[in-house]
Amino acid sequence: MKQPKSATLQTTAKAPSDSTRPRPIDTRPDPMELFPLPAFSDNYIWILHDGQRALVVDPGESHGVLAWLEQHSLTLDTILITHHHADHTGGVAALREATGAHVIGPAFEPMPEPLQRVSAGEHVDVLGLRFEVIEVPGHTAGHIAFYAAEAKGSPLLFCGDTLFSGGCGRLFEGTPAQMLDSLTRLAALPANTRVCCTHEYTLSNLKFAQAIEPDNGALAAYVAKCQQQRAQNFPTLPSSIGVENSINPFLRTAEAAVVRSAQAHEPATTADAVSVFATLRTWKNNFK
Ligand code: ZN
Ligand code: FE
Repeated sequence: MKQPKSATLQTTAKAPSDSTRPRPIDTRPDPMELFPLPAFSDNYIWILHDGQRALVVDPGESHGVLAWLEQHSLTLDTILITHHHADHTGGVAALREATGAHVIGPAFEPMPEPLQRVSAGEHVDVLGLRFEVIEVPGHTAGHIAFYAAEAKGSPLLFCGDTLFSGGCGRLFEGTPAQMLDSLTRLAALPANTRVCCTHEYTLSNLKFAQAIEPDNGALAAYVAKCQQQRAQNFPTLPSSIGVENSINPFLRTAEAAVVRSAQAHEPATTADAVSVFATLRTWKNNFK
C-alpha cells in the first residue's frame, strides 16, 4: 500500500493571508468525498476518495481519470467493476498499469484480467469501507452492484446499468423476471441510500415516467428539480432509493396507475408485476 501524502494537509487553507499558517489538525475521521466524473457522452465514472486514496467505479476510459486523480493529488487504490460492457471497463487495463490499483469485478462476466472476482454474499473492504456485493442480473447476466451500508452520511450504492434515476437498464442478457427481481432487491435498501448510476439518462427516463404516471406529484416535482440541474450542466445524480421508489415506474409495477398505463398500452398485460415490468421495458425501448 502506498504512503499517504502529507502535502495534501496544506492544500486546503482558505484565505490567502492565512496560507502560511498551519491549520489545526482535525482528528475527526474525514468524510469520504464522492464525485461523478463525466465520460463519453453520458457516462459517469464515480470516484470516492478520502483525500489521499481513491476508488473508481466502472472506468470506461483512463485519461480523464488519471488527470483528475493527479489534479487532486490522489492515489488510485481500487477499481470496482459492475459488468462487462466496454463503456464500464475500457479504462481498467491502462489504469491498472499506471497505478497498480487492485481490480474487483463480477465473478461470472468476461473481464480484463487479472482481477479479484466477487459474487453475491461476499464483501470487499476498500478505503476502510465495507461493500456488500449484490447480484443484479438483467442488463447483463452476471451484473453486480456494490453497497456500503456504513458509508459516512448515508449508505452508498454503485449499481452500474441496473437502476437509473427514473428508469432501468435494457435487458441485453436477462429476462424481465430477473431484472425485476434485481431491482426489487435494490428498492429494499434504506431510503437514504445514495444511488450512483453510471449514465445521465434521467431527463429522458422522466419523460417516459410522466407518460406512465401523469398524476404523480412527487414525479412532477422531481422533473422540475432535474431540469434545473441539467440546465446548469450539473449531474442529477446521485439519486436516492427513497426518491426512486416514489418516481421510478420500473420500481412501481404494483401501483394501480402504472398497471393501468401498461394495460392501456399493451392489452395483453396482466396485473402481475413481471408482466407490467415487461410491458414497460419494451415500451420504453421505442419511446420518443
Ligand atoms: Zn452496460
Ligand atoms: Fe453503460
